[in-house]
Amino acid sequence: MDDLVADDIARFEASFKNITQRYRLINRIGEGTFSTVYKAEDLLYDHYQNDWDLEANKENRDSDSSAVKQSLVRQQKPRYVAIKKIYVTSSPLRILNELELLHDLRSSPNVCPLITAFRHQDQVIAILPYFQHKDFRDYYRDFSMDEIRDYLRNLFSAVKSVHDADIIHRDIKPTNFLYSPSQRHGVLVDFGLAEREGTDYHHCQCCYEQEERARKVQSSVYARKLDAARTSNVPLPKPSYPKDDQRPSRRANRAGTRGFRAPEVLLKCTAQSCLIDIWSCGIILLTFLSKRFPFFHSADDIDAFIELSCIFGKQKMKQVAFLHGQILQTNIPSMTETGHSWEKIILWCTGRNKKSAEGPGEGLSEDEKEAINFMRACLNLHPGNRISAEECLEHPYLNRTES
Ligand code: ADP
Ligand code: MG
Repeated sequence: MDDLVADDIARFEASFKNITQRYRLINRIGEGTFSTVYKAEDLLYDHYQNDWDLEANKENRDSDSSAVKQSLVRQQKPRYVAIKKIYVTSSPLRILNELELLHDLRSSPNVCPLITAFRHQDQVIAILPYFQHKDFRDYYRDFSMDEIRDYLRNLFSAVKSVHDADIIHRDIKPTNFLYSPSQRHGVLVDFGLAEREGTDYHHCQCCYEQEERARKVQSSVYARKLDAARTSNVPLPKPSYPKDDQRPSRRANRAGTRGFRAPEVLLKCTAQSCLIDIWSCGIILLTFLSKRFPFFHSADDIDAFIELSCIFGKQKMKQVAFLHGQILQTNIPSMTETGHSWEKIILWCTGRNKKSAEGPGEGLSEDEKEAINFMRACLNLHPGNRISAEECLEHPYLNRTES
């Protein structure tokens, strides 16, 4: 542990009353936008252990006491914990939201459960079981297709339980999905941006409303120009973006991480659904298949939209923009009408696009083709046509037995 981390831990121990009586802080394991996370040992663990022994002896004289202990460990009493110190600048409502959602999801096997939470003055800490995992950067390039499948089965079963509870995670990405390749087990963490899916609309209804709105806006602006053209005999204008648009700009939840935001988030769709998480999972699969991380590098939403447009092509992006009440106008020369296929992109990214003197370059394996089809279903631009977490888990790609 370096001196800076040791100082930070010492400051935390001094400022959070009585924390050292309950936990022994071991190391700092994460520093995110909204929190600092420490690994710690629960000093009451041995105490529980004794209780469990007594309990096991009393009630399960004939049964295996280690099995009882195991089940108690599963009931969230591990020796090692992760202490998430949520920055005091986070609003109390936001902190409460994260803790409540974690509490609701406590029985989901692939979601890291909340053990408890403490507050001292304005500082709130959440206590989670410590989950041993490997850094994504250390394995994403080397995973076999079977390992990718294992990872995704864990990820989608986490996402399914979140969505079954009508919760949108909003920030699915490798650093929020802790995975242990040796255990073939992973857990979803970080519900700091998560929210309950609205109950007053069906997903994508907004798209129809926005579509209607876009048509109205476009036709009213166009109608005015048309009238002017008729009376003054000037050539008919083409329908275009209303440059003197006086309407207030649209406000929508844009939370998430760049490179993982679904098109409807980039387009500020006001009724986003759980399907934004499926898009982010699709981006993780794209990372595995292309062996590039991060795959998208854009600094802002407009750049992100351009990146997507270069792949999907102008035609499809215009349609999706229109679906959410926006109009896409561009003169970027590298953006083609029809874009590029995922197959071609994966070959490019993995250096297999070059044709050698002996013949065509190495192609995609059948496994890869199936993975790309699955990814395409996750990365459908139209949320209404995107596959759900439940459908993902039933997809033939995730149900292949080991090759
Ligand atoms: P933030 O909101 O700051 O991103 P996270 O909940 O994502 O906070 O935690 C930040 C990092 O801390 C994670 O990326 C992970 O490396 C580590 N971490 C969080 N929870 C655990 C846990 N239960 N076990 C092990 N490491 C964890
Ligand atoms: Mg995080």
